[in-house]
Amino acid sequence: MPLQPIIGHLGARRRLAKAAGTGKLPQVLLLTGDAGVGKQRLALWLAQLVMCEHSGEEPCGSCRACRLVGALSHPDVHWFVPIARPKAPDPDKQVEEAAQAIAQVMEERRNQPLYGESDGMAIHGMASVRLLLRRAILTSVEGGRRVFIIGEADRLVPQESSPDAANALLKLLEEPPPGSLFILTTVEPRRLLPTIRSRAVPVRLGRLTDGEVREFLETRLRPAPSAEELDQRVALAEGSIGKALASGDEAGKAQQAARQLLEAVLAGAGPALEQALRQPPWFARGEFTAMLDALAETLGEAARGTLGERPRRPVPKALLRHRSPDPLLKAMEHVADAREAAWGNVNPQLLLAVLGEELAEVL
Ligand SMILES: [Zn+2]
Repeated sequence: MPLQPIIGHLGARRRLAKAAGTGKLPQVLLLTGDAGVGKQRLALWLAQLVMCEHSGEEPCGSCRACRLVGALSHPDVHWFVPIARPKAPDPDKQVEEAAQAIAQVMEERRNQPLYGESDGMAIHGMASVRLLLRRAILTSVEGGRRVFIIGEADRLVPQESSPDAANALLKLLEEPPPGSLFILTTVEPRRLLPTIRSRAVPVRLGRLTDGEVREFLETRLRPAPSAEELDQRVALAEGSIGKALASGDEAGKAQQAARQLLEAVLAGAGPALEQALRQPPWFARGEFTAMLDALAETLGEAARGTLGERPRRPVPKALLRHRSPDPLLKAMEHVADAREAAWGNVNPQLLLAVLGEELAEVL
């Protein structure tokens, strides 16, 4: 079964199970919480719970419905994930392309259930919204309920070139078809379109305990980490399994790129900086946005350092000479602006050149 066992969030699970058991489960839910705490996993748990042939506080895990949901193959559970913008010129073809792209991600998750955040450029665009609308008007395949999960819902951009699709989506969320359940997830509810946010009942998921993260890493990570690595990863995770997993290779690469860039910026104008800005060591936008995230985290740790706290990851020493966190916070704002711009069709190299200058000015 591709689904990893659910960890933590017992309070939320109990409340949701109670609501489901008494027929009081809202039809549109918004799961919020830090990245990697298991929002989409909880959404799948809830899908399993409402589909399960047995009633109880937890899905039984062994009936046909539970097994289908667990295998990401239930015909009435539709998990929408952000995807790259479809390329076909024809809108109908775009919807087909979106369906294929989502099916491909599902296939990947069946094979590798531990996934990271979507590529920074991936969205729920107009084609995905149309696909959702088409599926929402169909009747249930199995004759029971239907569940629609929209992961990273802040990446919904239905309004782009299609107010019709955007309005239809709002109408759908306002009056969901009988027996349907919509579960949206987001790290940042404020980034959700207010019209969508106002139609959903929020459920906040807190951070996992260190013990829960440790248990997950110990039992799931292969090859098993050494005791020292385990301690380090639990500490870096800050209650997020996603973060604990990301502290492996991929993130290591992004952090190294971020550190090199910072060191070049700190060394001042010169050949090293020019080279760092001219030769982006990444190829995909996902790697670029991961580098920006690592940059923001490193600056954040340095800001902690200036306040006398111990940084939780290596930070260039020159950053710690600041007497106040202000320059570092200013630098983080510039990185956040670049991160925002990276969602659009901006050339990463250009963005980086501008960011490099901005950082050199404040740091
Ligand atoms: Zn079951």
